[in-house]
Amino acid sequence: MKTIGLLGGMSWESSIEYERLINTEVRRRLGGTHSADLIIRSYDFAAIEGLQERGEWDGAGRLLAADAARLESAGADLIVLCTNTMHILAPVIEAAITVPFLHIADATAAAIHRAEITRIALLGTRYTMEQDFYRGRLEELGLDVRVPGDDDRTLVHDVIYNELVQGEVHDDSRRRFVELIERMVGEGAEGVIAGCTEIELLVRPEDVDCPYFPTTSLHAMAAVEAALA
Ligand code: GLU
Repeated sequence: MKTIGLLGGMSWESSIEYERLINTEVRRRLGGTHSADLIIRSYDFAAIEGLQERGEWDGAGRLLAADAARLESAGADLIVLCTNTMHILAPVIEAAITVPFLHIADATAAAIHRAEITRIALLGTRYTMEQDFYRGRLEELGLDVRVPGDDDRTLVHDVIYNELVQGEVHDDSRRRFVELIERMVGEGAEGVIAGCTEIELLVRPEDVDCPYFPTTSLHAMAAVEAALA
C-alpha cells in the first residue's frame, strides 16, 4: 500500500472527513485491522483564509509547495490537497514534487462521466465558482459547467466561510442550498458538484433529487484507488 500525503486543514472540518473516508475504505477493501498509511500536514485555517482574502496567492503557493515537498521527503507516494479552492495552486505544487498529485477536479469529472451527464452545476467558494482553474479544467474534460448568479454565489461563499469551516451546520442554510440546487436543475443542470470540501457536511446526497457529486468523498476514494493500485 502506498503512503498518502494529505495537505489539509482547509478546513480541518473536511480534512477529518478525508481521514475517516480513506481509512474506512481501506478497511473495507483489505479487511481486518487494515487502515490507510497517511502523513498529514494540517494548517491553521485562519492563516490560509488571510492569504486568500489578501490575494497573496504567491505566498500561499510557496507555503503549499514547500509542504508538499516535505510530505514527499517524509515518504508520501502521492499528494492529496484537501480543498477545492487551493487547487488554484495545483501547478505550483506539482512543480515542487516528483510523486503524483491527485487533482480533485479530475476525480470529480471522472464520476460525472460515469453518470453519463454533462450539464453540471458547481457550488463552491467564490474563487472556485468564478475563476478558471476549476471550471476550466472541468470544461476541458467535456463538461458544461453552470454557476449560480451573483447573489447566490455570495450566499454559498458566506455559508462556507461563516458557518461550515467554523463547524456550524444549520438547517436553514441546508434549505437554502437545496432550493438553489433545485432552481439550477430547473434551469437545465443535470446534477450538482459540491465543489467545496465542507458542503457535503451540510447537504447530503439524500437531501437532493438529482445526481450529486461530493468532492471530498470522490477525492478520498480516488486516493484509496491510487494507494492500492
Ligand atoms: N474547503 C473549501 C474548498 O474546498 C474552502 C476552504 C478553502 O478555501 O480552502 O474549497
